[in-house]
Amino acid sequence: MTDRYAVFGNPIGHSKSPRIHRAFAEQTAQSLRYDAIEAPEIDFAGAWQAFVDAGGRGANVTVPFKQDAYALAQVLSPRAQLAGAVNTLMVGRDGQIYGDTTDGVGLVRDLQAHAAPLEGARVLLLGAGGASRGVIEPLLEAGIASLTIANRTVAKAEELALLFAAKGEVAGCGFDVVEGPFDLVINATSASLAGDLPPLPDETFAAEGLAYDMMYAAEPTVFLRWAAEHGARTVDGLGMLIEQAAESFWLWRQVRPDTAPLRELLRREL
Ligand code: NDP
Repeated sequence: MTDRYAVFGNPIGHSKSPRIHRAFAEQTAQSLRYDAIEAPEIDFAGAWQAFVDAGGRGANVTVPFKQDAYALAQVLSPRAQLAGAVNTLMVGRDGQIYGDTTDGVGLVRDLQAHAAPLEGARVLLLGAGGASRGVIEPLLEAGIASLTIANRTVAKAEELALLFAAKGEVAGCGFDVVEGPFDLVINATSASLAGDLPPLPDETFAAEGLAYDMMYAAEPTVFLRWAAEHGARTVDGLGMLIEQAAESFWLWRQVRPDTAPLRELLRREL
């Protein structure tokens, strides 16, 4: 039976994951099938079980199922435990369900690919939702000097900061008290989806600062446009999507695909 993989979400029609993983499989000569599965919102576990019964070996998990996947996994990686979410599931040789998260690694690899300031950098992370939580530890491990988490709901930023306080210099606050300049500003809010801009001071960016928006689109997001107007270099989240997929692929197949050709291809298709 062909090994099956899939991405679970709801909705899932827009997902680029099948495109990415099929390209990885072709590039690395891995024989596998990869589908997009729209699970019912109230029965992720049932959809997963049906998939495993049909030869499913592993899956990516996206909105709104990352917490369901976390609950379903029988063995969690340390980074998934810290992130409180799972974006990659895998059926082990022992039949157990393994849960991991590759979003943080994906972000840091993409930042490195863009020569982003990391070692010793002052970093501002906008947002305190699932995406934000999953990238904090990998950013700290990449050697940044300090992390400020700013969020619309201030208490959530403060809670996150407290959770990671033992691992580095981390502070939480609201947008109105953000004090720059920062070498790197990462937008992990979903504000860009609605065309909104978190209210930040004009002096947010250091000289040669970099602005990163986890969202990606054919046109620059409102955050990236604002950042460019304030002198920052800008990068969107397409590369993060591809890098987190490559890490999942490696977990499943123990083969690391080359992400460079996909970056160019998907950019042209946006
Ligand atoms: P969540 O729903 O968990 O969190 C949303 C966050 O955005 C919260 O901090 C929320 O603040 C904030 N927010 C929402 N609307 C606004 C607004 N109008 N102004 C200011 N802040 C706002 O989402 P996720 O963390 O899962 O995802 C965040 C973004 O990251 C999404 O755009 C997602 O597509 C992207 N992403 C990209 C990935 C990639 O591979 N490129 C991977 C994962 C995520 P509050 O707490 O006050 O509600």
